[in-house]
Amino acid sequence: MAALAPPHVPGEVLDILRRLWSAGHAAYAVGGGVRDALLGRTETDWDVATDARPERLLELFPGSSYTNRFGTVGIGAVEATTFRRDHRYGDHRRPDEVTFTHSLTEDLARRDFTVNAIAWGRQGDSVADRPVDPDWVDPHDGLGDLRARLLRAVGDPTARFDEDALRLLRAARLAAQLDFEIEPGTLAAMRVTAPLVRWVSAERVGAELRRMLAADPPSRGLRILAQTDLLEPLLPELALQRGVAQDKLPGHDVWLHSLATLDAAARLDPGNERLRLAALLHDVGKPTTQADGRFIGHDVEGARLAERLLSRLAFPRPEVGGVAWLVRQHMFRYQPSWSAAAVRRFIRRVGAAHIDDLLKLRQADNEGSGLDADADRTSELRRRIEGELAAGVPLGLGQLAVDGDDLTRELGLPPGPIIGRLLERLLESVVSDPARNTRELLLTDARVWAADMKAAAEVKGEAER
Ligand code: ATP
Ligand code: MG
Repeated sequence: MAALAPPHVPGEVLDILRRLWSAGHAAYAVGGGVRDALLGRTETDWDVATDARPERLLELFPGSSYTNRFGTVGIGAVEATTFRRDHRYGDHRRPDEVTFTHSLTEDLARRDFTVNAIAWGRQGDSVADRPVDPDWVDPHDGLGDLRARLLRAVGDPTARFDEDALRLLRAARLAAQLDFEIEPGTLAAMRVTAPLVRWVSAERVGAELRRMLAADPPSRGLRILAQTDLLEPLLPELALQRGVAQDKLPGHDVWLHSLATLDAAARLDPGNERLRLAALLHDVGKPTTQADGRFIGHDVEGARLAERLLSRLAFPRPEVGGVAWLVRQHMFRYQPSWSAAAVRRFIRRVGAAHIDDLLKLRQADNEGSGLDADADRTSELRRRIEGELAAGVPLGLGQLAVDGDDLTRELGLPPGPIIGRLLERLLESVVSDPARNTRELLLTDARVWAADMKAAAEVKGEAER
């Protein structure tokens, strides 16, 4: 591993280090960039730690700017921070203040995990001495833990989590992302300090959760949350699933079924975050609807809870709505006896944009129940749907052979809600029978229905008088 040196440090980072060294400053690559490069992980952001003050960094690197209130300077994609000590974590979250220091050792001691506290670099050039070669600085044996794939807190783990509760989430996320074990002492400290996680902002929880769910397998981080008593304060809706029995895999409660479904979803479509979220949350409505071993209405309740949970964690609006919709629709029951019209009505109800995810969700749900992915002929339904879509059957108002203007003009109706209702009804009939999608037939139908609606309105009016 000592052979890591320059080729692994990207040119952009090396250029920054060299400029700092030649300006007489100590400078080191540190943190996640070093850790990930050593693990052979590529997509990573790099951090540089230096004894140069923030103002000096701005001066040395034209175009650089502050990225936070603690004097971190962004140089291109690289973040440079002055060696520092953190002080008094009054809110179990951010340091109240930071003090700059000339000591790399102090800077490494404030970092969260040993594998994040490995530095590579050297002192600055001085007129008196010949420059030394850059080298590793690793006072907490992060290199040893990296080899053993262990996540271990720097210093006293309980004190470190107590200072900053975000580290609890970072521990679960990093262990999941890197496929590391958490060192037993660190794990025990997580359990002790778990209640402090309430101090972490919901946005930050959401961001870390997203990264956990992107790991392979995505259930890993969630299992750590459960194991360290973090699940209850963070995701109480899911914590309630534990111990709720159901007749799927023997020994699997709703929680384990959800995790198995999540992992199956990730195998089916690795890049699909919405599908992962829907898989994790598809049965979130079960604990509060269970009665006599059944879960009637858990799709409706689940959609409501999924929407609440994801909104609370500041997930983007379209993601929240999309996931809630999949949860709402996940209980469909396909039968080979469905007519072509029934298949088209299904597409229309679910929405063409959600169909693919919904079918994958069902396949994942099947796998998570110990069944074959195709247990209820999901692929047959998929083929039939693809056939309908390929035939270009009308599924939206825009594809009708008439529009609202036609109706107002031809039927002499005033614009208003009645036009919208007529269009919906025309679309329904066209979805059932695409041959009806001609201007003449639609106008004929619309005339009859408009007359019916008017008559019904008059009867209702009389009854109310
Ligand atoms: P990633 O970039 O994947 O989130 P990272 O470890 O690089 O992981 P950054 O937020 O980029 O995380 O932080 C860079 C470095 O700063 C970390 O490697 C660690 O040394 C230190 N660090 C970040 N957050 C904390 C924290 N909450 N407490 C202590 N040290 C931290
Ligand atoms: Mg990083």
